Amino acid sequence: MHEFSTAVGVVETITEVAQKNNATKIKKVELVVGEFSMLNNDQLRFSFEIASEGTLAEGASLIIEGQSGEIACQECGYKGLIEKQSEKEVDHFIVDLTNIFECPKCHSNKTKISGGRDIYVKNIEIEFESS
Ligand SMILES: [Zn+2]
Repeated sequence: MHEFSTAVGVVETITEVAQKNNATKIKKVELVVGEFSMLNNDQLRFSFEIASEGTLAEGASLIIEGQSGEIACQECGYKGLIEKQSEKEVDHFIVDLTNIFECPKCHSNKTKISGGRDIYVKNIEIEFESS
C-alpha cells in the first residue's frame, strides 16, 4: 500500500506545518501527484481520510493536481512529454522505469524518466482559533 504510506507522510508534513503556525484545523490540502508516481488518486484520497483521522487534517478537503510525466531520450537528446499511453500499460512499469517509453522524436526506447515521479504538498489552508 504505497498510497497509505504516502498519505501518512503527507499528513505528518502538513500537521507539523499547521502546528508551527498555531493552527487549530487544516481546511484544505493541495497535492501535486506526478504521472509516474505510481499512486492511484482514489486510493490516495481514501488513505488520506484514514491517515488524517484524529489529526488537525481530519475533514480537510483534498485537491489532487496531476503533473505530466517527462522522459529524456538517450539517443537523440529529446526531453519532454511522452506520447499518451493507455492506463493499462502505465500500471505495469512498477519495477524499472528505464527503457519503457518510446521517444516521440526518434522512436528509440532508450529513454529515462526525467520528471513526474514525485508527489508534493503544494499548498495548505489552515484555520485559527477565532477567539
Ligand atoms: Zn529520441
